[in-house]
Amino acid sequence: MATNEIIQDIDAVVGETLLTEKEIQQRVAELGQQITQDFAGIATSEKPLIVLGVLKGVLFFLADLMREIDVPNEIHFIDISAAKSSNGHYQDLPNYLEQAINNRHVLFVEDIVDAGLTLSYVSRILYQGNPESVSVCTLLSKEANRIMDVDIRYTGFEIEPVYVIGYGLDFKEQFRNLRYIGVLKK
Ligand code: 5GP
Repeated sequence: MATNEIIQDIDAVVGETLLTEKEIQQRVAELGQQITQDFAGIATSEKPLIVLGVLKGVLFFLADLMREIDVPNEIHFIDISAAKSSNGHYQDLPNYLEQAINNRHVLFVEDIVDAGLTLSYVSRILYQGNPESVSVCTLLSKEANRIMDVDIRYTGFEIEPVYVIGYGLDFKEQFRNLRYIGVLKK
């Protein structure tokens, strides 16, 4: 299939439902409660929790999770593709983030951790901003595919190493708006 081909038939692309909307919402609420407990008294209005999401897949997870977190917080985003230089080597932490995370507790939110390359790269550049702490929260994890040693504090669901779509996750930039998470058909 050509990359720019318009895909319209969901049934031709999305196979079994891995996680229903209800299962996702329930787990997101649990994660929010856990994070609220863990950061109560630590995140304050003078020093809010910095909730940092990786674009674009984290879109809905971050929006839902934030509304379940009941401690003072700020939202920020990092666009990994924009942070790469033209020769494909990673650059430093963008200036706007350096200021935002300095001396702050950071909750770094990912849609999915697969091999762990993205997480490992972002963790490395985040420390350039001297955060007080960095905790990682991912909705999905494919531990069987991991090649990097990563430290994840909050995991929504541990899943099999299949390619999933929906709830922010794309297939050729489409299907992000599905309310559930399904498996890509072969
Ligand atoms: P990693 O750097 O951990 O190997 O991969 C993380 C990135 O790969 C995710 O942020 C996501 O963009 C992409 N990715 C990995 N697995 C999947 C998947 O099952 N579905 C989708 N849509 N993207 C995935």
